[in-house]
Amino acid sequence: MSGSIYDQGLDKNAANHTALSPISFLKRAATVYPDKVAVVHGERRITYANFHRRVSQFASALVKRGIGKGDTVSLFAPNVPAMLEAHYAVPLIGAVLNSINTRLDAPTVRFILEHGESKLVISDRDLNPVMKEALAAMDAPPPVVDIDDALADGGELIGAVEYEQFLAEGDADFAWEAVDDEWRAIALNYTSGTTGNPKGVVYHHRGAYLNALGNVIDFGLSPQAVYLWTLPMFHCNGWCYTWAVTAVGGTHVCLRKVDPALIFPMIRDHGVTHMCGAPIVLTMLINAPKDVICDFPQTVECATGGAAPPSAVIAGMERMGFHVTHLYGMTECYGPSTICAWQDAWDALDLEGRAGKAARQGVNMVTLEGQRIVDPETMADTPADGETIGELVLRGNTVMRGYLKNPDATDAAFQGGWLHTGDLGVMHPDGYIEIKDRSKDIIITGGENVSSLEIEEVLYKHPDVMEAAVVAAPHEKWGETPSAYVTLKPDSEGQVAAQTIIDYCRDHMAHFKAPTKVTFGPLPKTATGKIQKFALRDREKGPAA
Ligand code: AMP
Repeated sequence: MSGSIYDQGLDKNAANHTALSPISFLKRAATVYPDKVAVVHGERRITYANFHRRVSQFASALVKRGIGKGDTVSLFAPNVPAMLEAHYAVPLIGAVLNSINTRLDAPTVRFILEHGESKLVISDRDLNPVMKEALAAMDAPPPVVDIDDALADGGELIGAVEYEQFLAEGDADFAWEAVDDEWRAIALNYTSGTTGNPKGVVYHHRGAYLNALGNVIDFGLSPQAVYLWTLPMFHCNGWCYTWAVTAVGGTHVCLRKVDPALIFPMIRDHGVTHMCGAPIVLTMLINAPKDVICDFPQTVECATGGAAPPSAVIAGMERMGFHVTHLYGMTECYGPSTICAWQDAWDALDLEGRAGKAARQGVNMVTLEGQRIVDPETMADTPADGETIGELVLRGNTVMRGYLKNPDATDAAFQGGWLHTGDLGVMHPDGYIEIKDRSKDIIITGGENVSSLEIEEVLYKHPDVMEAAVVAAPHEKWGETPSAYVTLKPDSEGQVAAQTIIDYCRDHMAHFKAPTKVTFGPLPKTATGKIQKFALRDREKGPAA
């Protein structure tokens, strides 16, 4: 008889194998910690038992409306309880959660709703003016549930039903069926593509489960964790902390708006232990007016990523009582994928030395299988000399399934059996990576990705513009900002002001995407007439030191 002794009578069955899904975290937390506060929102407190009950009602209400397996449900909301509840209720019934970036403009929101074939929209009243415009432009707009949050500033109600009424339609005893397939789509998150239209990144239950647990391990979450939502939940499902905090039975502290005047007292009053955010959030805290900064007794663990935090920012945060952990990630890999794991020996270094180590993007998180810096053509590793630039590629169970309805982009991203990040970096001799540049046409401003091609498309529509190219310019506050290089049509030369071009862009796209600088003149070209963006990038970086 061939085969190993382990090949017989030891098969997978219902007792020893279940699909991995982060939905199970809430079921457990509600059993273990029913009376513990799961969610804080203003004056509201939601216990784990209540969180579970509300999610059951939510899921049941979705089913009653005909939503089921493989249907997309879109959320357009700040960090409010409904958004968190959607992270459980929607995938619980096999549907797919599509959280939309709240800073996008109506045409982009419409594109996402249409491309993702959304069956239902749940939208916050403050954001409804944009949602209303997006829906009005659709041939068959999906129905809307309004979130009429008590802490909203204004906005309007546009749906047939309000979220709390919608929950009341559902059954609190709704039966939680086990997730049948861990490969099932759990979330659809749109990311700025290197072409104008965003790409729909599809996550599966298994990846969400694993990345959430990776966060628990690498960021040290415990049942005592009090997590402040300074990171938008729409960004990679809040980097999977929407599930990670629940996994440990910690407390989610909701926050509608990143405002230091709210954040500091919340840290003190709720005993916040953990929070995440792009470096811009850290910069806002450091530069907050003196009268809003307050002392707190605990050290707050603060994870940052999306862009490299300048060492002055790390030092400034540490002075205020935070401990900063540097992460790297992207939408395609469920948010955090690498972490600058701290080595005890670095404690002995001076501030500059420590900041230099911490500024690196680091090593793979425990749940990511591998990370390499390679020559993207040959896939050969670059030498680990801290100098040779290559592309960062990733592999593992926390990499997306692919881009929705976009096989070409999916194939390109997975070439050679690794996820190509489009980020350029070096491998240090100690195995830590450091990002140095980007090969993709993305500008990251204030933690938001903007496709330079999308801005160029708008610039080319301006009647006086003949040619345009947009690159990232370093910016003290925003990290980067879009800088446009424009050649005007011959008759328009000298007739158009930079501000006119900026205003035109602001009128035709979300304001955060508009260039803040416009330089007129001929564009540098290759012999074949291709615009040399690298030459423009070099101009932005200024003369080499
Ligand atoms: P997003 O898909 O919006 O999460 O953006 C992902 C991109 O942000 C990456 O491809 C990088 O270009 C950039 N990024 C993320 N984390 C870091 C970091 N720690 N340092 C430098 N760039 C980063």
